[in-house]
Amino acid sequence: MSDTIAAISTPCGVGGIAVVRISGPEAKQIAEGFTKPLADHRATYAVFREGEADIDEVVATYFQAPKSFTGEDVVEIACHGSRYAQEKILQSIITQGARMAEAGEFTRRAFVNGRLNLSQAEAVADLIDSTNAASHQLAISQLRGGYARQLQELRESFVKLTSLMELELDFSDEEVEFADRKELKELVAKIERECQTLAQSFQMGNAIKNGVPVAIVGRPNVGKSTLLNALVGEERAIVSDIAGTTRDTVEDTMVVDGILIRFIDTAGLRKSNDGIEQAGIERSYKAVEKAAVVMYVAEASHPREEYEQELKELGEHVNLEGKKIIVLLNKSDQKKAEPKSGEIAISAKYGEGIEEVKQALKQAFDLKTSNYDTVLTNARHYEALKRIIDAIGHIKEGLEQGLPGDLVVVDIRDALYHLGTITGEVSSEEILGSIFSRFCIGK
Ligand code: GDP
Repeated sequence: MSDTIAAISTPCGVGGIAVVRISGPEAKQIAEGFTKPLADHRATYAVFREGEADIDEVVATYFQAPKSFTGEDVVEIACHGSRYAQEKILQSIITQGARMAEAGEFTRRAFVNGRLNLSQAEAVADLIDSTNAASHQLAISQLRGGYARQLQELRESFVKLTSLMELELDFSDEEVEFADRKELKELVAKIERECQTLAQSFQMGNAIKNGVPVAIVGRPNVGKSTLLNALVGEERAIVSDIAGTTRDTVEDTMVVDGILIRFIDTAGLRKSNDGIEQAGIERSYKAVEKAAVVMYVAEASHPREEYEQELKELGEHVNLEGKKIIVLLNKSDQKKAEPKSGEIAISAKYGEGIEEVKQALKQAFDLKTSNYDTVLTNARHYEALKRIIDAIGHIKEGLEQGLPGDLVVVDIRDALYHLGTITGEVSSEEILGSIFSRFCIGK
């Protein structure tokens, strides 16, 4: 039996209206004590009265368990949004036996009562946090369950694997050479592919959620800072005529058609024996490592071989696999560029081609054109998935080496365990605490 909790669920401050939410077995009775009888799934206009005093005119909506957000009896009281009215109504409710809700406690109850699985509860937090269309889209689709369905299918595959192994165990007494494990191996390979695709999607998901990391690299003076300014539209990076002065990395963000882009501006890639400049080059490599998109800026007037060689060298220092490379031929106002496919001619200084650059950036992270059915966004899930992939590695090894089924089953259970931590079938106070404390009070 849980107690009844209450909190103001709208943001703190003054607004047109505010909502005080009550959840738990006493919710209806407490609310009716101040208003009037409430009908299930109906909004009721009432005067909120404490004793003889009229506190506010409100609309109280009652959601009878289990058809409510938390799965318990819930009453939402919409009152006028003055600080006084909100606080007074909450305090009145508390005096009648409800307890102040803790951060995320409503959502936590929804999870405990099976209204949401853990990944959906986390999606609620992401939804509330999302600041742009793409991260919003990801959160809402995670909440709506395509992802949950995929996890469920993965679980079923593992369960099937276990039952196949156990079937093998049943026959082992009879010393039957049971199955050549071909079917098992195929199933494992299929599961592995699915897990790897999901893990790969994390780079994209994480980028959309936290901003797509974009590194702008190229020799000193090719116009990297000017480009950044042209893109972001403000003079945030220092533009300079002196080669190699952009020594510190500067981060800036912008939203392109709903996608958050996070720029990592870097020092040039010039070869040098100068210690400081060398450090700058190292930093450039680090930035490229962190980036999902690399914008390589070259000067249109320079010979193509020069930057092609540099790009090759970049590839020797940094693993570019999975990164989108966009080559920009800058200063095309000075010399007309002849861009090949994958290249864009621009003039950072005069703002030419900037729109094209933005579209190329957007395209690289457009969910609609991505190959992923599901995009993983949650770092906790990603960690769990890596453990699942490890366990699959062990399962494969076991099958290859002809290990007895009961040993292989141990690794399958391990994989199932980690899968369970994503959906919340396996959960600890520690995990739940850290997830729900991300929420504010009232959520
Ligand atoms: P960075 O060292 O790569 O960051 O280069 P900067 O952005 O500091 O630019 C170096 C110089 O090139 C500055 O004098 C810029 O004004 C100039 N510059 C940048 N972009 C263009 C361009 O598109 N056309 C022309 N003509 N000059 C440019």
